[in-house]
Amino acid sequence: MTYAPDAIRSIELSTLRLPLSVPISDAKVFTGRQKPMTEVIFLIAEISTEQGFTGHGFSYSKRAGGPAQYAHAKEVAGAAIGEDPNDIQKLYTKLLWAGASVGRSGVATQALAAIDIALYDLKAKRAGLPLSKLLGAHRDSVRTYNTSGGFLNASIDEVRIRATQSLEEGIGGIKIKVGLPDSAEDLRRVRAVRDHIGDDVPLMVDANQQWDRTTALRMGRRLEELDLVWIEEPLDAYDAEGHAALALALDTPIATGEMLASVAEHERLIEARACDIIQPDAPRVGGITQFLRLMTLADRAGLDLAPHFAMEIHLHLAACYPREPWVEHFDWLDPLFEERLETRDGRMIVPDRPGLGITFSDQARAWTTERVAIGA
Ligand SMILES: [Mg+2]
Repeated sequence: MTYAPDAIRSIELSTLRLPLSVPISDAKVFTGRQKPMTEVIFLIAEISTEQGFTGHGFSYSKRAGGPAQYAHAKEVAGAAIGEDPNDIQKLYTKLLWAGASVGRSGVATQALAAIDIALYDLKAKRAGLPLSKLLGAHRDSVRTYNTSGGFLNASIDEVRIRATQSLEEGIGGIKIKVGLPDSAEDLRRVRAVRDHIGDDVPLMVDANQQWDRTTALRMGRRLEELDLVWIEEPLDAYDAEGHAALALALDTPIATGEMLASVAEHERLIEARACDIIQPDAPRVGGITQFLRLMTLADRAGLDLAPHFAMEIHLHLAACYPREPWVEHFDWLDPLFEERLETRDGRMIVPDRPGLGITFSDQARAWTTERVAIGA
C-alpha cells in the first residue's frame, strides 16, 4: 500500500477560562510577587484534515498570557492550511518562521504548542495508537506524585488530609510547597507531612524560585535529613550557576526547568549541570516536537525527568524517556475532559485510547470564551 498525502483543511482555535475552586498560592504570593491564582487560561487547537482525521492539542497560561497565545496562534495558523499534517517537523518550522519577528520562545512558541500537540494527537489517532506508542514507549505506566494538595494556601491539616487521599488513590508521592518568608514555618510543614506519611513515601518540596542562594543552601542542608526525592526550583529559574553550586553542595537532588520557555533555555541549564532532574513543560517550550529534542539532550546528560503540569500530555512523553521518570498529578484539569487518568500502586497508567486519549467535556465548551476557525 502506498502513502497518499493528507492535507490540513482547518484549524479551529479556542480559548477557555478554567476557574479554580479556591484561590491558589505558592511562595511567589507570600513574597509579594504574584497574586493568588484563580483561573487557568487554555488555548485549544482542533485540526481537521481532508481525509477526515482530527486532532486536539492545548497550551495554557497562568495569570497572564492567555489572550496573547490565542492572538498569536490566530495570526500564524493559516500557514499550516493545505500542508500534510504528518510533516510535523516541517510544520513546526513553517509556523515558527511565520511569527519569528516576535521571537522563538515564550508566548510565540507556546501559541504553536497547541497546534503541534494537536498534530501529534492526530497522527497517533490515524495510526490507531496511544501517543506513547506512536513515539516509542519504554513503559506503560509512570511513577506519579501529587502537587495540587500541597499548596501554601492550605493549612498543614488540609495538606495532611489531601496527602492521605492521594496515597489512597494510588498516587505514589507527595510534593508540598515551601519558600515562605518564615523558613521555620516551611520546616514545620515539611516535617509534619514527613511524620504523617512516614519515611517510605516519596516526598518532594518546591520553593517556586523564592529563595536566594544563601537561604537555599541553609534550607537544603536542614532538609537533607528528611530524605526528599528532590528540592524543586530553590532559586530563580534563570540562575543556572546558582543551581549548579547547590546541586554540588547537597545530597538531595535538585529539580528545575518548568519556567523555561524554549529548548535553548533548557540547554543552558543542562550545560551548566544545574540540576539532577529536569522539569520541562511541553506547552511552555513549544510543544512535543521541542520536548522530544529536549528529552534527547537530557538523557545524554544523564538527567532524570519530571515534566511540569499537564499530566494529560506529559504522561505519554514521560513513558518514552529511557530513565524512570515521574509525572506530576494535578486534579485541576479534570473538569475539562471526559476521561480520568488511572492511578494504581504509585503509578499513572498510560491510557490505551488512540492519541492523547482525551475528549473535551461539555463543561470545557461552556467555559470557552472565544473561538475562530482558520481555513474553514
Ligand atoms: Mg513547580
